[in-house]
Amino acid sequence: MQTKIVTLEQGLEEAVRLIKSGEVVAFPTETVYGLGANAFDPNAVRKIFEAKGRPMDNPLIAHIADISWIDRLAVDISDNARAVIEAFMPGPITVILKRSKEVPDEVTAGLDTVGIRFPKHSVAREFIKACGVPLSAPSANTSTKISPTSAQHVFDDMQGRIPLILQGGECEVGIESTIVDMTVDVPTILRPGAITADMLVQVLGKVKNFDGKIIVAKAPGMKYKHYAPSCEMVVATSEEIASYEYGRQFGIGNNPVIIAKNDFLQGLDDPDFFHFIRLGSSDEDAMRNIYRAMHEAQEKYNYIICQDFGEEGIGASIMNRVNKASGGKRI
Ligand code: AMP
Ligand code: MG
Repeated sequence: MQTKIVTLEQGLEEAVRLIKSGEVVAFPTETVYGLGANAFDPNAVRKIFEAKGRPMDNPLIAHIADISWIDRLAVDISDNARAVIEAFMPGPITVILKRSKEVPDEVTAGLDTVGIRFPKHSVAREFIKACGVPLSAPSANTSTKISPTSAQHVFDDMQGRIPLILQGGECEVGIESTIVDMTVDVPTILRPGAITADMLVQVLGKVKNFDGKIIVAKAPGMKYKHYAPSCEMVVATSEEIASYEYGRQFGIGNNPVIIAKNDFLQGLDDPDFFHFIRLGSSDEDAMRNIYRAMHEAQEKYNYIICQDFGEEGIGASIMNRVNKASGGKRI
C-alpha cells in the first residue's frame, strides 16, 4: 500500500470516501495526529489496531465534530459532565462517559464507558464533520512508538500501512489530551494534559488528580455550589460584622439568622435580639451540627450569616463546606 500525504483541499473527498468504505485515515488534531476510522463500524475500527499493531484491549477515543453528537455515543450524562463539555470542548480534553448501546465493543475494549473528544484543530473538525460519523482514533503511530506531532512523523512510522495522511502542520498542544473520567463520584483525571487539574477544579469544585490526590477549589471562583442551602448565605469574619449584617438584613425586610458556636454568640452585643442557631462549643460540635443548622436555617429563615471557623484543623474542614454553601461570600 502506498501512503500519501495530502492537504484538506486536495484530499478531503478521498479521505471521506475511505472512511465511508471502512478504511483508516490519519488526521491532525491540536494534541497529536490520530488514526481514525468510523466509530460505528467494528470492522473499520479493527483496521486501526491492525495498522498500529496495538492490542485490542486498549480502548479508543471517539472524535466528534459537534457537541450534539455526544448523545449518540453516551447515556446518563451528569450535570458535571455537561459543565466540563461546555467549558473545554472543542479542545484538548477527553471525557469518559457511560457508553450507549450503539458503540461497538471494539471501540471501548468491552468497557461500559466511552472516551469522547471534540478536537479544536480546523482540519480535524472539517474532516470529521464531512465524514458525518464520530471517528475512533488513537495516536497515529505503531504500538510503543512516540506519538506523531507532524504529518511527516506519521509517514515515517506508518508508511505502507495506511492509505492517507491529512496534512495539518505541527500540532499546537503536542501531547495527548487530558482524560477525565466523569462516570465516578469524584471526577478523576486518568491522564494529565493541557487542561490541568486546576482548570477542571474551577468548573467541578473537586477532582481526583492522576496521582490520586483530591483537589478542591478555593472559593470563590468556583462555578458550582454544593451542599448549598436554598437561601443566601454569607460568612461573617467577626461578631461586629455579623451584628451589623443582621441589622441591615432585618432592616430591608429579610428574616436573617446567625449560625455560630457559643463563644461567638456570646460576643454579640445583645444576644437576645438575634435569631441564632447554636453549634455548640467545640469545633467537633460545630462539625457535627453544621449541616443540621443549615437545614434548619433554610426552613425557618431566608438569610444565613455563618461564623468564620478559621483555617486550622477541623475549622478548615468545616469552612470547606461552608465556603461551598456560601459560594465563597465573606463579609
Ligand atoms: P491514545 O493512547 O492517545 O490512543 O488514547 C487512548 C487512551 O484513552 C487509552 O489508552 C486509554 O488510556 C484512554 N481511554 C479511552 N477510552 C477509555 C475509557 N472508556 N475508559 C478509560 N480510558 C479510556
Ligand atoms: Mg498513543
